[in-house]
Amino acid sequence: MKTLGSLRETFTGEIILPSERAYDEARAVWNKMFDRRPAIVVRPRGADDVIAALRFAREEELLVAVRCGGHSIPGLSTCDDGIVIDLSAMRGASADPERRTARVNGGALLAELDDAAQAHGLVCPVGVVSHTGVAGLTLGGGMGRLQRKFGLTIDNLASVELVTADGRRVRASEDEHPELFWGMRGAGPNFGIVTEFEYRLHALDHPITFGTVTHPVERARDLAGLFRELAESGPDELFLSFGTAKDRSGGGAFAFLTVQHCGPPDRAERELAGVRAFGPPVRDTIRAMPHLAAQHLNDETQDWGHRFYMKSAFLPAFPDDAVDLCAERASRAPDGADCEFSVWAWGRAIAEVPEDATAFTGREAAVWLAAEALWDDAALDEQCRSWGRDALADLAPFASGGRYVNDVAEVGAGVARMVYGDAKYERLVALKRAWDPDNVFRLNQNVQP
Ligand SMILES: Cc1cc2nc3c(=O)[nH]c(=O)nc-3n(C[C@H](O)[C@H](O)[C@H](O)COP(=O)(O)OP(=O)(O)OC[C@H]3O[C@@H](n4cnc5c(N)ncnc54)[C@H](O)[C@@H]3O)c2cc1C
Repeated sequence: MKTLGSLRETFTGEIILPSERAYDEARAVWNKMFDRRPAIVVRPRGADDVIAALRFAREEELLVAVRCGGHSIPGLSTCDDGIVIDLSAMRGASADPERRTARVNGGALLAELDDAAQAHGLVCPVGVVSHTGVAGLTLGGGMGRLQRKFGLTIDNLASVELVTADGRRVRASEDEHPELFWGMRGAGPNFGIVTEFEYRLHALDHPITFGTVTHPVERARDLAGLFRELAESGPDELFLSFGTAKDRSGGGAFAFLTVQHCGPPDRAERELAGVRAFGPPVRDTIRAMPHLAAQHLNDETQDWGHRFYMKSAFLPAFPDDAVDLCAERASRAPDGADCEFSVWAWGRAIAEVPEDATAFTGREAAVWLAAEALWDDAALDEQCRSWGRDALADLAPFASGGRYVNDVAEVGAGVARMVYGDAKYERLVALKRAWDPDNVFRLNQNVQP
């Protein structure tokens, strides 16, 4: 980087250089595995600042990292020696109760969208940890506990405004640049910097029912059977996640079933009778609560500053042999780490959207399965990564094609093709050539022009 000259003239936001006291905090990202040292971090105040930052980056030939919530699992919102365009000064969300829509700025966190919508008894389906960024989550797809009723986050996206690689402001929706809008919904970080999202909202003005029952790991097969039965016969309002886990408390592995029912509490209680009848749990936290309370329950365990690895797959079914592997692999998780398999019921509203309607790949699966490890001691890095990788290698015979782009920890050539499959990947390449032929936006699961 030769000079800051042109940036200082046009950019109104904060500029943070390595010599400054704020630098170490400004360069930190959620996953502590990534300790990068960018040449400069800038915090735009609006779309004009984003354009100025991008122009400067291109003049100086700087590698560009774009950050919203900083939760990228492979650390894609930071870099060594390049520029981080950190949108954290562009937070904020507002809801329009008449139109049942929300407008959300490009740097907002999930909590802001949740709060704005719930202030009017409305909701947008988003993820399960409220400090995650709206932008990264949405542009990859957006899974969450309302997904069987209202679909993925992208299924509720009405439009995006973005700054393109050549510094233009463009709006994409079903009517404006529809092909770009197709690609934004699943491969979005490849095509520009989103400064504003518009979402459609749904009514949710009563308490939801949420919680987890924990059972000995020896009951994993039976509990998975209940999970399958409820996934098949339960209502769209019912979210289900089966899992096996071992945490760093030193106890052994256990099995669990997490449920969220977004219908009225009395109906939820009736439709969750099978969970209560399953047998005495080791622990039961299922109860009615405000939607916003549930949205914050994972915030602390998944807070900033830990090391994290995950690997996932989509499965067309979740047979007992796969359940056994999850139980056995959880028992062998590294000591000193929190390790779990979680298996989310898929289908319903997700599957109602045709597979080729968006770049997101994997709608036809029966379940999404992930092995996740969270730890603090860097000496455990390789053990934790191998645990997740080896487990998913064992489970590979049960998997179908495609991956959820937002939880792919690996990066590099070939990863995006594996995520999207050949046909969608070729369609994305054509889009990339049209909108970012120089691959300015390459710190993502990259589609190569
Ligand atoms: C604790 C935790 C919980 C999670 N829970 C869920 C969940 O419930 N459901 C789910 O679907 N996923 C979940 N995820 C995965 C999450 O969706 C991805 O990590 C997502 O990329 C995070 O978005 P972010 O804005 O915080 O990330 P960032 O690291 O800021 O960005 C991620 C990617 O998006 C790009 N990007 C960021 N902002 C913009 C923008 N404005 N315009 C264009 N590109 C941009 C970045 O360049 C980067 O490539 C979770 C992740 C974590 C760490």
